[in-house]
Amino acid sequence: MTPTVINGPPPHTDASVEALIIGAGACGLTAALRAHHAGREVLILERDETPSGSTSLSSGFVPAPGTRFQKAINVEDTSDLFCADLMAKSHDTSDQTLARIAADNIAPAIEWLADHAGIEWIVLDDFLYPGHSRYRMHAVPEKTGSALQARLLTAAADIPIATNALATTLYREGHCITAVGVDRGETTEIIACEALVFACNGYGGNPDLVAKYIPEIADGPYFGHAGNTGDAVLWGEAMGADLLHLSGYQGHGSVAHPHGILITWALMMEGGVQLNVDGRRFSNEHLGYSEQGPHVLAQPGRIAWDVYDATIHEFAMNGFPDYRDAHSAGAVKVADTATDLASLIGAPVSEVEKTLAHCAALPDAAADPFGRDFSKGRALTPPYYAIKVTGALFHTQGGLRINKEARVMTPDGPLANLYAGGGAACGVSGPDVSGYLSGNGLLTALAFGYLAGGYDPIA
Ligand SMILES: Cc1cc2nc3c(=O)[nH]c(=O)nc-3n(C[C@H](O)[C@H](O)[C@H](O)COP(=O)(O)OP(=O)(O)OC[C@H]3O[C@@H](n4cnc5c(N)ncnc54)[C@H](O)[C@@H]3O)c2cc1C
Repeated sequence: MTPTVINGPPPHTDASVEALIIGAGACGLTAALRAHHAGREVLILERDETPSGSTSLSSGFVPAPGTRFQKAINVEDTSDLFCADLMAKSHDTSDQTLARIAADNIAPAIEWLADHAGIEWIVLDDFLYPGHSRYRMHAVPEKTGSALQARLLTAAADIPIATNALATTLYREGHCITAVGVDRGETTEIIACEALVFACNGYGGNPDLVAKYIPEIADGPYFGHAGNTGDAVLWGEAMGADLLHLSGYQGHGSVAHPHGILITWALMMEGGVQLNVDGRRFSNEHLGYSEQGPHVLAQPGRIAWDVYDATIHEFAMNGFPDYRDAHSAGAVKVADTATDLASLIGAPVSEVEKTLAHCAALPDAAADPFGRDFSKGRALTPPYYAIKVTGALFHTQGGLRINKEARVMTPDGPLANLYAGGGAACGVSGPDVSGYLSGNGLLTALAFGYLAGGYDPIA
């Protein structure tokens, strides 16, 4: 059913709540927890039978500057520094206001979730994600997105979540959304609301919108949640809301093929390289995993091989549950020599030897054809480890422009009671895949969800 906006009052209402939230992922649950804590009557609408969203598929890593969890391990960080990192990664193309809002509110959101929802956080301090100048990735102790989602759901146990509830129709009266029509399968219901939060993520699961706004990745695999069909964008278009950076997205260049398991980019940051089936490198792996998505898809057969060694293998086995899953699934291969590696990849031995010798000479950025600085690292040593990977679209980063209260903007100013966060809102990655700084997805899910849940009712 196409998301629709009807200008005028609903024909009737079946129920009424104060805070109505569409989507039960990290954004919706954070907004719900905060609104509930403020004494609001909350209802979450979730199209699926069991709430999971892209949040459950994610690695669950959330960047936040200046938290007490960082201070406990002596990491000095500030929202100014984080904001500068965000803007640098996008070459200053991110919306400066949104970057500021995200950078200023994510630490309060993380600490609020710890204090009022019992979410435990650890800070990953074993390696720096590309573009981050401090150790600032926060995760729940299990270090997975499914555990983050499970912990948020446990914290929200007292908040009603209507499942199998697809929000389809908004009733708009002036600057207010007064009710939402919901498809419950056999029946439809109309719920009146005081405030409405879009927490239904972006349009990665809508092939038409991806083809329209991000044609470069349209024929690549989508690795996010299928239910993220762009309803917020479609409602926004229908309402004349401000939509921004719809060509922005998070890609990823390291999804084990055909296993479909995310392989941590730590392999590259610790010294690994990506080779195509010709045995050649094709990019600077240290710029980030997002832009590597289209780079890998542009290679012969749309695949590449992550190549690294035993030290990096041990590091990943110790630190990354996804990597352990990939290992159990048989995705991790071992080649004793460069010749064996060439045979595994199906590449000419001479090319593989040449590539490995180039990297082992530890060239600096000027001496590397792709500008990667190997000089501060160490040479890979045999046996070589290798995983066949492909590129993918993980989630879209464009969406509704919001203000510092997370209210949805139109050219005439904010809508009075409509809020957006997570993938439903415009993110902080600019209009291009390369602007995505690691963690920008959950950053806006938690920071903007936290803001939305703290809304002031309209007078
Ligand atoms: C493999 C993978 C790894 C990732 N790793 C990270 C990471 O480590 N760090 C990071 O920051 N980001 C990561 N991301 C991105 C991150 O998962 C998302 O940015 C984040 O989960 C978005 O949260 P959300 O609450 O906006 O959306 P979601 O978690 O997707 O929740 C949206 C919910 O809305 C529901 N919904 C949609 N439309 C409707 C409707 N009309 N009515 C009712 N319900 C609806 C959906 O069913 C869904 O449950 C990753 C993404 C992927 C795919």
